[in-house]
Amino acid sequence: MKYEPVIGLEIHAELLTASKMFCGCSADYASAPEPNTNICPVCTGLPGAMPVANKKATELAALVGLALNCSVNKHNTFARKNYYYPDLPKGYQISQYELPICEKGWIEVNAPSPLPPLPKGEGNRLLPSEGEGLGMRVRVRRVHIEEDTAKLFHEKNYALVDFNRAGVPLLEIVSEPDMRTVEAALDYATKVRAILRYLGVNSGDMEKGVLRFEANISVRPVGSDEFRTRTEIKNLNSFRALTRASTYEIERQIKIYESGGMVVQETLGWDDVRGVTTSQRSKEEAHDYRYFPEPDLPPLQLSDAWIESIRTRLPELPEAKTARFISDFGLTPSEARFLTSERALADYFESVVAKSKSPAKTVHSWIAGEFMRYLNDSGVSIEDVTLSPEAFAKLIDMVTDKIVSGNNAKIVLAELIKNGGDPHEIVKAKNLAQVSDEGFIQDAVTKIINDNPSEVEKYLGGKETLLQWFVGQVARATKGKADPNVAKELMVKGLEERKK
Ligand SMILES: [Zn+2]
Repeated sequence: MKYEPVIGLEIHAELLTASKMFCGCSADYASAPEPNTNICPVCTGLPGAMPVANKKATELAALVGLALNCSVNKHNTFARKNYYYPDLPKGYQISQYELPICEKGWIEVNAPSPLPPLPKGEGNRLLPSEGEGLGMRVRVRRVHIEEDTAKLFHEKNYALVDFNRAGVPLLEIVSEPDMRTVEAALDYATKVRAILRYLGVNSGDMEKGVLRFEANISVRPVGSDEFRTRTEIKNLNSFRALTRASTYEIERQIKIYESGGMVVQETLGWDDVRGVTTSQRSKEEAHDYRYFPEPDLPPLQLSDAWIESIRTRLPELPEAKTARFISDFGLTPSEARFLTSERALADYFESVVAKSKSPAKTVHSWIAGEFMRYLNDSGVSIEDVTLSPEAFAKLIDMVTDKIVSGNNAKIVLAELIKNGGDPHEIVKAKNLAQVSDEGFIQDAVTKIINDNPSEVEKYLGGKETLLQWFVGQVARATKGKADPNVAKELMVKGLEERKK
């Protein structure tokens, strides 16, 4: 029997507010000089301390909900989720339960692997996605506000607790179990992260733990629409962990069914070193938390006007930007998606295109190729690039105008990124200008043909792929200054003459 996974994701995202969710303490625990300095009676759970909801966090939560195509509940409430843990001094977490701030949204996901048939119903429609694979909607069940916990540090014989993170606003984004491949789950998580970054509500820095995933996983026979027992993998702190843990858990469950066993509902941890999921506890049901309305906080009453004013703050989001890049710039869907994966990258691309007379496709090639390679190698982020779009555009146009060859332009680009300057002056100073003068190139061609008799013989014997090598030798001999088209033309001519 063939099985398919059924995957739902919960994404926990800290919100970038100045203060905590229910008190005035700084939410920037990463910059705190010492443990337990950004704390007060509210976030350490002292008796009698009264919480007050953070207005800014409410705005950001609504903004995220709207970006995820959710409806905003004009009346929503806080609830107490009761459980005891040393990182939760109150013995309960303030969260939202029955009436979250936002619900019933969706985002479009590109599922790179072939999708098995999905049950009919809202949100599960298969949408053609610009001729590249299939797009599908993953429904967002709810977006609710809660508070982060303190941090525990386990030492040899004792544990330490730091309350600086306790009470930091946390958003929980819960999807429906709409994903049928690990790739789709990965794409969903990637898209949500990109949206949060576009909105400026979360840095997306998973290494710092400001964004965490939990995966709910079950498997079932392909073609069936039943929902079998699921397990929940907690605290996945990277895309790699999400991929590996989900893949492992899907295989584990299939093996259980194939050997005649039953999957047990439980909460799992992910052991990244051993590459296995491990049982943490039998899964709680909602009633185990004894949710009840938070008596210390009034319901949030949001007006239509307020919601609309939040909606006006929505920037152009990745999907819309991708569609525009495809139609306005003639890019392919994958080229456009690459550029729109980060807002800063998309903005940079558009600035270069605006300053350049070269086709947008050419600008894309430069940015996606040499420029990104440099950033990756040097560990510089796009936000920290000092190269002005004007200078970059000028350099690309110099290649288009055959003032400098593509290869030498790479040298100029590296210099521009590192030390700035004017591309024309760098070309002049480094003597990198392209030469189309046939006499100059012909001399190099003749010398290369004379110096490499055995290659010439092979080429004339039918190994025509060697032509690229010969042209490469011209580029080397002329230090990249030869116009590659002229060089190729003269090389073919020179080699053919040897035939006679
Ligand atoms: Zn506090």
